[in-house]
Amino acid sequence: MNLLLLTGVAYLAVNVYKAAKSFSEKYEILIADKNDVIKENSDGPRDIISLRPENYDKSMDLRGTPTHECVCGCNIWNVKVVFQNFEIGTYFLDMECANCGSLATAPTPVDRTEM
Ligand SMILES: [Zn+2]
Repeated sequence: MNLLLLTGVAYLAVNVYKAAKSFSEKYEILIADKNDVIKENSDGPRDIISLRPENYDKSMDLRGTPTHECVCGCNIWNVKVVFQNFEIGTYFLDMECANCGSLATAPTPVDRTEM
């Protein structure tokens, strides 16, 4: 009786080992801190209000040459616009980087032909 029980336990142990080995070959197990996961999920799409610099410590005055991208790598700008007939009718040429707060000059169609 004991021999039969031992054989069954050994058979079960071998199968569990094979299943665990097969699982570890197929899948990767990542362990994450719950606080980090909750923080990551709560970020979601950023609100427009959050698209402004936290401070202006690293901001510069880059106005002069029209640009599409800030020196910090950000390409989102805070620009003042005037709407006409449901479109942007005109916009101020001074703009502020949404990331670092640097001032720069907005590009215009005239700049495209000159460059
Ligand atoms: Zn910037």
